[in-house]
Amino acid sequence: MNTACPKCGAADTQSFAIANKAGTSSGSVAGLGMTADGSIGVGRGFSTQQTEIAKLTQPPANVFWVQEIVFIVLCLVVMLMILIPSLLAGYYVIGIVASLLAGAAAGWFGWQKLSRDTTKARAAYKAALLKWEHSWLCLRCGNTYYVR
Ligand SMILES: [Zn+2]
Repeated sequence: MNTACPKCGAADTQSFAIANKAGTSSGSVAGLGMTADGSIGVGRGFSTQQTEIAKLTQPPANVFWVQEIVFIVLCLVVMLMILIPSLLAGYYVIGIVASLLAGAAAGWFGWQKLSRDTTKARAAYKAALLKWEHSWLCLRCGNTYYVR
C-alpha cells in the first residue's frame, strides 16, 4: 500500500484514523508534533495543531440513532396519553389494552417511515465512514487524499 503524499511525495503521512486518535489523546502530542512541519511552533502551538488535526480528521458523525430515540419516546408519550387518563377515569383494562394497541400502531407506522429515512442516512454514513477510513493526511504539506 503506497501511503506517500501524492502532492509532495512525503512519506510523513498518517491515516485519518490514527491522526485523529493521536490528536485527541494527550500522550502522543509531542510525537505527532515532531513529525509535523518544522515551522510549527512549540508549546501551545503543538496543542493547537493537535486540535486542528483532530478536527480535520474527525470521523463522520453517526446521528441516525437520535431519530430512533426520539421515535421511541414519542411512542411512549402516545401510550401514556391514553393510559393515564384511562387509569384516572377508572378504565384500567380498556386503558391498558388501548394504550398497547396505540403504541403498537404508532410503532408500526412510525417505524415504516423511520426506516425509510434512516436507510438513506445509514447508507450516507457508511459511505462517509468508508471514505474516512481510506483518508490520509500529509504531515508535511497538509494535503488530504485517499489510499485504496
Ligand atoms: Zn504532502
